[in-house]
Amino acid sequence: MPTSDAKNAALPVYVEAALPVPLRRVFTYRVPEKMRGSIKLGARLMLPFGRRNLTGYAVGLHDALPPDVDIDESKIKDIIEVTDDEPLITPEILGLTQWTADYYASFWGEMLKAALPAGINTEKIRPKRRKAVRLLAVAESADEKPVRTGSGSDRVLARPLSEQQQAICDLLAANGGEMLFTDVLEQADVGASPLNTLAKHGIIEIFVQDTLRDPLAGAVLPDRDDFTLTPEQQSALDSITATLKNDGEFKAFLLHGVTGSGKTEVYIRAMRFALDEGRSAMMLVPEIALTPVFSRRLRAVFGPEVAILHSKLSAGERYDEWRRIRRGDARIAIGTRSAVFAPLENIGLIIVDEEHDPSYRQHESPFYNARDVAVMRAHRAGAVAVLGSATPAMESFYNSQTGKYAYLRLPDRIGGRGLAEAELIDMREVFKRAGRHVALSFELLSAIKTTHERGEQIMILLNRRGFSQFVLCRTCGETMKCKNCDITLTFHRGGDKLLCHYCNYREKVPKLCPLCQSQYLYFVGEGTENIADMLENKFPDMRIARVDRDTMSHKNEMEDVLLKFAAGGLDMLVGTQMIAKGHDFPNVTLVGVISVDIGLGLPDLRSAERTFQLITQVAGRAGRGTKAGKVLIQTYYPEHYALRHARKQDYEGFYNEEIKFRQRLGYPPFSMLASILVKHREHSYASKNANTLRRSLDAANAARTARILGPAPASLSRLKNEFRLQIIIKAASRRSLKEMLELALADAETHGCDLRTVYVEIDPVNLM
Ligand code: ADP
Ligand code: ZN
Ligand code: ZN
Repeated sequence: MPTSDAKNAALPVYVEAALPVPLRRVFTYRVPEKMRGSIKLGARLMLPFGRRNLTGYAVGLHDALPPDVDIDESKIKDIIEVTDDEPLITPEILGLTQWTADYYASFWGEMLKAALPAGINTEKIRPKRRKAVRLLAVAESADEKPVRTGSGSDRVLARPLSEQQQAICDLLAANGGEMLFTDVLEQADVGASPLNTLAKHGIIEIFVQDTLRDPLAGAVLPDRDDFTLTPEQQSALDSITATLKNDGEFKAFLLHGVTGSGKTEVYIRAMRFALDEGRSAMMLVPEIALTPVFSRRLRAVFGPEVAILHSKLSAGERYDEWRRIRRGDARIAIGTRSAVFAPLENIGLIIVDEEHDPSYRQHESPFYNARDVAVMRAHRAGAVAVLGSATPAMESFYNSQTGKYAYLRLPDRIGGRGLAEAELIDMREVFKRAGRHVALSFELLSAIKTTHERGEQIMILLNRRGFSQFVLCRTCGETMKCKNCDITLTFHRGGDKLLCHYCNYREKVPKLCPLCQSQYLYFVGEGTENIADMLENKFPDMRIARVDRDTMSHKNEMEDVLLKFAAGGLDMLVGTQMIAKGHDFPNVTLVGVISVDIGLGLPDLRSAERTFQLITQVAGRAGRGTKAGKVLIQTYYPEHYALRHARKQDYEGFYNEEIKFRQRLGYPPFSMLASILVKHREHSYASKNANTLRRSLDAANAARTARILGPAPASLSRLKNEFRLQIIIKAASRRSLKEMLELALADAETHGCDLRTVYVEIDPVNLM
């Protein structure tokens, strides 16, 4: 924990700082005398580090050199500057980030940096300031000479007010005495000089005002619908509020309810309850679900109490929203992943919607899973955590079975609407019938046609963007690969390029095979671009939009398309999983799923779970309204249990089979998993480091409680020009895993292992 000896003793002389560098330690600096009065725990500091200056964070203050600091006092450097008078980081977040860094074998300073709004340490973000004007004196009329300046002062103007000056005073008086400078110029139709003159004479004051950028500015606030909760909703809400009433009690709930079962309504009422109890609340949502539509629904309910944090905001907007939370002006924070570190005070409730969603996982250092950090935050703060999902993660459902989480169930859709019926289309049969590969089966095409004829809407989902998955030379078998990664390049017809989806490397499409000069280049595996094209050709009278990362590059594009679709201005959406979640389109009665099961062929422990989740999610899109919905799933694996259960939307059926598989292979939740990647441009160097680390791991695992696999080439064996070797550890418990890793990393370093090449990921989501 951060310590402060400074409270009861003298001013701090030394500060311990966490720095955003990959080193598992804090650094001691001296506080120059003139800064001792202003430095506080959690403040950002400008610090000399090697030959650079870095922004670090004050995590400990001491009036004497801490006894465990083993450097010579004369070598301790002075801090350069205390960046914040009021610390950005609250004591709670200091503790939480320290725990998170420790849990994920990561680095405190990097975690603190990740906890603050992105870009805050660069000079670019500043509070937005605007000039404003305030009326001080009452200028009674232009005829009266001289004009009295109110404010109790006896100063008088030598000359009467000019017509323009008078107009300015009248305008200000009519607007409550205070306006933005630019508004005065515009509305009084004057230049700056009469304003300056008035200011000089003390009649008005020109000052600089902090203004906040509001990402939801202009959101209309419709009346909120206050319907009666269903008995299931009410009982779920009662369980949550009962715990909230016991101030300071921690409890985690799993709220398991199909899409459309009214979970969001339960969240909203629980948050309202937390606010009424004088506490704050947070709701985490997956990256893509935080569409403005959803944020506006919350703004409509909570007004300015809600602050929004997600990556689509401009840096300035994010900073301002964050400051509203920090100041206590907003007591509800809604956001994606890193919002779990939002500096809410007195937090009572943390909701994680779609808790199974992989986007909660931070995919680069510092690794963390915001869902798990959320539960830990609630635990540390004595708050309630609610994890909601239609398809809970295996670990979460397991926790609800073992009693670690309380289980709340919303079994039915609101309004008694049934779940959409799903059918599997066996693409092997389709292939046999046609005698060749076809992307769109006859069954799907005819269902599209009849749905459209009924005036209803269609969504087509596939999990591959671009035009075709890869380019193959039919003469020599060569596939076009990225020059930085061991990955085939995807053909994007828009832009006529081959693109690497991992590192963004791009090149022109070759006319001839680069290896054998053959002209027989084939484009294999359809992407969104290609499918949208085919559908446009087949159905020229339909209005079709494509939704994927390539078409939705701008902030409002996604919203525009979705709003247009919702309003009936489009007949069909073709897209990646971006369209699978969280939207409510009552007129969508057909969802087609194309090639979403390619993941089942990959060596990933979660591929079955992912496929099940995705299909269930997307099936939840069909038939949200009063009309019955239909889901057609094209697949090459119709017997796979993930698909069999997804078809019936049978979560428990799927869980029961999958959990047996996990148990047999000793995968989570039956073990704690760590994935260690050793990455380097030189294969031999990566390999040497990985082998050293493996020996140290074996030494640390003398009791043989853990299983260690590798090093072996990762399934992405080369990425962004680096070779990647992987070691996988399956440990019996969290504690044994942590102890073993700590021992092994220290030991490996003494044996010459370069830890800069080593990336540890605890609870990895993918084994890539
Ligand atoms: P989920 O989050 O589980 O997908 P929502 O909370 O969004 O479900 O509810 C689905 C729809 O049902 C929404 O349009 C919501 O306004 C409506 N709804 C929720 N609860 C009720 C209720 N008790 N009575 C009537 N309508 C409800
Ligand atoms: Zn060739
Ligand atoms: Zn690449």
